[in-house]
Amino acid sequence: MTIFSRIIAGEIPCYKIAEDDRFFAFLDINPVNWGHTLIVPKREEDYIFDLSDEELGAMMVFAKKVAAAIKEAIPCRKVGVTVLGLEVPHAHIHLVPLKNEGDMNFSNKISDPSPEKMKQIAAAITAKL
Ligand code: AMP
Repeated sequence: MTIFSRIIAGEIPCYKIAEDDRFFAFLDINPVNWGHTLIVPKREEDYIFDLSDEELGAMMVFAKKVAAAIKEAIPCRKVGVTVLGLEVPHAHIHLVPLKNEGDMNFSNKISDPSPEKMKQIAAAITAKL
């Protein structure tokens, strides 16, 4: 079971944003920018391009709804999309609100984000869904 499956199962806490029957969204615990959100399929698959065309498409449509809420909740120009997958072997999309290119720098994460601020960000995004 991946760490993301344990989060989805409620065994590990997260700052949850949204879920439907197939996908789950929560804040990245080490955000590159405030509002950095992960979109994960509930079905475990390591590599995103091993998802079926249908599941990949549905995941992107789910991400689109979450991105719209992020864009309304967090002042930004656009919500950027990245896939890395080098750390957690469970396919996921990173959504990051962007004002400039540097806001998507994965070598420069926010250090020690406070739980209060993370809770506040999650609530602000959720309120826009
Ligand atoms: P990658 O697999 O390279 O896309 O990186 C995995 C991402 O998951 C990183 O940005 C981590 O900060 C994030 N991450 C790892 N564990 C957790 C967790 N328990 N809750 C939220 N995000 C996590």
